[in-house]
Amino acid sequence: MAAENTEPREKSLNFLEEIIEESIAKGDGRVQTRFPPEPNGYLHIGHAKSICINFGLAKKYGGKCNLRFDDTNPVKEDVEYVDSIKRDIRWLGFDWAVERYASDYFDQLYDWAVELIKKGLAYVDDQTQEQIRENRGTVSVPGTESPWRNRSVSENLDLFVRMKNGEFPDGSKVLRAKIDMAHPNMLFRDPIMYRIIHAEHHRTGSKWCIYPMYDYAHGQSDSIEKITHSICTLEFDVHRPLYDWFIQALDIFPSHQYEFARLNLTYTMMSKRKLLKLVQEGAVMGWDDPRMPTICALRRKGYTPASVRSFAEMVGVAKRDNVIDLGKLEYCVREDLNKVAERRMAVLNPLKVVITNYEEGRTELFEAVNNPENEAAGTRKVPFSREIYIERDDFMENPPKKFFRLQPGGEVRLRYSYLIKCEEVVKDAEGNITELRCTYDPMSGGGSSSDGRRVKGVIHWVSVKDAAEAEIRLFNPLFTKENPDDVEEGQTWEDNLNPESMVKVTGYLEPSLRDIPVGQAVQFERVGYFCPDTDSAPGHLVFNRTVTLKDSWAKINK
Ligand code: ATP
Ligand code: MG
Repeated sequence: MAAENTEPREKSLNFLEEIIEESIAKGDGRVQTRFPPEPNGYLHIGHAKSICINFGLAKKYGGKCNLRFDDTNPVKEDVEYVDSIKRDIRWLGFDWAVERYASDYFDQLYDWAVELIKKGLAYVDDQTQEQIRENRGTVSVPGTESPWRNRSVSENLDLFVRMKNGEFPDGSKVLRAKIDMAHPNMLFRDPIMYRIIHAEHHRTGSKWCIYPMYDYAHGQSDSIEKITHSICTLEFDVHRPLYDWFIQALDIFPSHQYEFARLNLTYTMMSKRKLLKLVQEGAVMGWDDPRMPTICALRRKGYTPASVRSFAEMVGVAKRDNVIDLGKLEYCVREDLNKVAERRMAVLNPLKVVITNYEEGRTELFEAVNNPENEAAGTRKVPFSREIYIERDDFMENPPKKFFRLQPGGEVRLRYSYLIKCEEVVKDAEGNITELRCTYDPMSGGGSSSDGRRVKGVIHWVSVKDAAEAEIRLFNPLFTKENPDDVEEGQTWEDNLNPESMVKVTGYLEPSLRDIPVGQAVQFERVGYFCPDTDSAPGHLVFNRTVTLKDSWAKINK
């Protein structure tokens, strides 16, 4: 029987998918994308979105995505960044078809520049940077032509070779495309193609002392790699005509550029320059400080690759700039961890409970479910003894009516274990509660009770003598303002740093938490998701809060 496809379309196509599907309909379905980071910093969540788009489209349409390092500025770049970028892309679950560097193309780009000179489309300019800037004019005022603009082809060729050979100091000459100094698009007013920088390059060493500008290098690199869809962020839309101009002037493979809106997140700063400043000034512990928006920080904080990918999917591919609520990213990690994270018990704000009718020195092991969302995760044993910790918040001396947790004379269920009843509240001289004395119902283990009575409240607990002590790092957004650049007069974005972005407390963990690997998130039942930090060691456990169970921050700050 012929089955009719009545399944609803899962999701509408984004504009890039539409473009690709139109090409497929016309019989040209090849998809070759690239992700082009500049190795001058660590990748952040904005890059993750670009990675998901570029690698995701290639994957969806049976194409390929290259990794191309845009290493045209030798001064700011470093191998440290190259390595971290590769690690982060792989962690996100993607792999590139080939690894390339813009610097691989320096010879070809140079030859093409010579070709443009020969065509009368490029010239060597001796003006200083300042003169060039002044003579560009403004949007309403046309620029002024350089006195060197009409040099002969042979003079330009000679000077350009000598620029390459290192005969001239930094800043003394540039190579410019000869287009139109009165063009309404300022980028067309004889854009600079090459500048002189006598600096060691992390790949080409001292071979070159002239380096191509972004606008000259990027499109040509795309063309060499036969990129079909060169996807970049919106601010590059004014560059697109110039991108096309070089490709046409050189008559090379016609790659095309498409722009999408960059990702902005509330309470988050994504400028690499500013992030570097935070690292250099010690405002954070490093690029991978869990408060940073970098991919390595998210990993350290306990985020899963799947949660970052689903976030990229959720925010979609927009054509207009917008700001996404940080809560959405947290929602995505919460959703994923709910499915995959094992449950454990930990007390972060302890109140000691002594169970007076329980034998001293006795330990019982209770079976606890590792993940109610995944039976295959199995169970574990949790030790119970005469003294336990519970959360201070789970006890109230004078509770309101609907308080179902522990109160004087009241009964509560200890998760996976017994019912206990509060018999006495012990206080110090100042009246602070220091301890509770309770009794337990010996017949109530594992969810039952001696007489079939039911108790509404269930609380988590940890056996005092078995507990693992740990430093717990509670993270809040790094900035106090939705837009960290929103500053009062005389202040800078750094004044918006949140002094409470990291709060350290001592927690008491069930013993099995000693064996959780670094970076793997678990749910502390009723508290949140946490993972061992890279600073954690057997003698000094350190756990990061990945995310709370509920969206508490948004509520407090609204
Ligand atoms: P910065 O300006 O902070 O240095 P960048 O955009 O110059 O960042 P690149 O390394 O050049 O960083 O970026 C690599 C790719 O990632 C580019 O295609 C860029 O458009 C994209 N990208 C960078 N930031 C974002 C963002 N916030 N959202 C989406 N894509 C981004
Ligand atoms: Mg850039």
